[in-house]
Amino acid sequence: MPGSLDDILGVVRHYWGYDTLRPLQEEAIEAGLAGHDSLVVLPTGGGKSLCYQVPPLLGERMDVVVSPLIALMKDQVDGLVANGYPAAAFHSGLDAQQRQEARELVRSGRCRLLFVSPERLVSPSFLAFVEECGVSSFAIDEAHCISEWGHDFRPEYRQLAVLRERFPHASLHAYTATATPRVRQDIVQQLRLRDPRIIVGTFDRPNLVYRIVPRVERFRQTLDVLTRHPGEAAIVYCISRRETEDLAVRLRERGLRAAHYHAGMLPEARRETQERFADERLDIVTATVAFGMGIDRSDVRCVLHTGIPKSVEAYQQETGRAGRDGLAAECVLLYSYADVERWESLLERGHLDARDRVGPDADAIAQLETAHAAQRTLLRQMAGLASNARCRHAALSEHFGQAFPHATCGACDVCLGEVDGLPDATVVAQKILSCVARVEQRFGLGHVADVLAGADTENVRRLGHERLSTYGLLRDLPKNALLNLMHQLLEQGLLVRSDGDRPIVHLNDASIEVMRGSREVVLLRPIKAGRTRQAKVEESGWQGVDRDLFEAMRALRRDIAEAKGVPPYVVFGDVTLRELAARRPSTLEAMAGIKGIGKRKLADYGPRFLEVILEQAHTSGLGLDAE
Ligand code: ADP
Ligand code: ZN
Repeated sequence: MPGSLDDILGVVRHYWGYDTLRPLQEEAIEAGLAGHDSLVVLPTGGGKSLCYQVPPLLGERMDVVVSPLIALMKDQVDGLVANGYPAAAFHSGLDAQQRQEARELVRSGRCRLLFVSPERLVSPSFLAFVEECGVSSFAIDEAHCISEWGHDFRPEYRQLAVLRERFPHASLHAYTATATPRVRQDIVQQLRLRDPRIIVGTFDRPNLVYRIVPRVERFRQTLDVLTRHPGEAAIVYCISRRETEDLAVRLRERGLRAAHYHAGMLPEARRETQERFADERLDIVTATVAFGMGIDRSDVRCVLHTGIPKSVEAYQQETGRAGRDGLAAECVLLYSYADVERWESLLERGHLDARDRVGPDADAIAQLETAHAAQRTLLRQMAGLASNARCRHAALSEHFGQAFPHATCGACDVCLGEVDGLPDATVVAQKILSCVARVEQRFGLGHVADVLAGADTENVRRLGHERLSTYGLLRDLPKNALLNLMHQLLEQGLLVRSDGDRPIVHLNDASIEVMRGSREVVLLRPIKAGRTRQAKVEESGWQGVDRDLFEAMRALRRDIAEAKGVPPYVVFGDVTLRELAARRPSTLEAMAGIKGIGKRKLADYGPRFLEVILEQAHTSGLGLDAE
């Protein structure tokens, strides 16, 4: 059976138009060819799909891929078919004719990949069908769904354990982007993998530019970030459903093409947002974490978190949806310690409810306690990462147990020199703390901020607090900025807040040290609008690219996609369009050398893109066949 690197590259070139493999793809493909069980852990965008798509082509066989969502399967099959790759899926979204076509493709023996959901696969009739087809290899995509320790547990994945019994001679290949050892171990055990090859990639994503900025004014900061990405795809993650809705409305008022997405919407409404985003009729989705799996748009140029995610794993997963095509993308987290407290109280409430439900069962209670403690730890790790002013790439890599080999990454706010300490932070902290003392440690953050800002509120007047010496002491700072600074003090343990419904802030020994001047304080402030620097990865991605030509081809891509009823990225990815717009091939032969243009696509779309290139070159005097 063919299986050398040349053979692999031959089909990769033929179907996908790629000249090289990404790290570890060769190893993963080899395991697939050899029929050796494997667990492949690659970050989002690492190119996992190719690893299970290549072996059945070379082995001239049909493999089965287990995938959790219909939308995900549908997109993958569309993408493969556009490349001339024979693939099919069986799911409830097919009409009678599509079902018939899929069945015929499989019967004819030409089908190379069959996608199916876990619950359908394990039904007796489907297992019998698969057996009849002589399937010898199964790929389990999103395999972390099998583990309660992952962030997306799906009980139906547990049933996949039957595969080992039913198909003792078949090989099983698990794929995931979740890297924690606990989840890895769970996958191996639950699927009963046999002496699996464990292939773990690098978790750093050099094309992502990370920024973690103190949140002082959510909406204005959100707009600032989105303004850097006009007409580009962006996802804005919010903590609550309400926030996603409100934000989408406000963004639309500003003329942006935005819509919201969360799990409380009707399925049709959800599908509509998802499809409009995939079809590029929508640029921005404001979403809860429910928006995730199933977005295959690889040109997401910005992922913005307006609140903190619950864990570093979730953060990695969500930011990982940016720049899957390998081109630069920006990930911004607007951070406030207030979110950490908010998540903690939500976790606490959830935990208490769960305890009420399980009753007196000691084992169950112990299990809940463990899970609760684990969640708190995950949250604390995320907060630690966010409040630290260390290279973001280094901090993330180390979280996943991988040393970061560079002294500076050149692609995060810390390394770009944007992280800005508040001048005179110690003096500002002293003013805040003395105000807490002046109001006799009997009020909450809001009132203290009002007094410092010199606000004229009902409470201030009633209490006569405008006569305090600290009244208006920090009136240069907006109230939101003051609140953020106080949250930074709380986080650093320089100020304390009581529990309960109406928490008040009070001082501790550390506060006294600061007030006496025997302790220095560092406080961060957000970078001013328009002051961010460009990272190298952002510049290099546009090198030589003619932007007008790029946009013209983007429009053509949208037209073709619409006519074919597929998402635009299925036609060509941004990498291909940028390379076309930089090299501007003058013939189809020259075009064949461009990344992402395989034989099928060259024949199907080449002529129309060539036309646009020649026309644009003619009208704006661009040179052709550039190096
Ligand atoms: P994952 O499933 O690991 O998140 P995908 O399989 O969706 O990642 O791949 C991400 C992107 O990278 C896709 O657009 C895919 O076509 C592209 N890709 C995969 N392998 C290669 C390669 N060897 N060379 C260039 N691009 C690749
Ligand atoms: Zn850095």
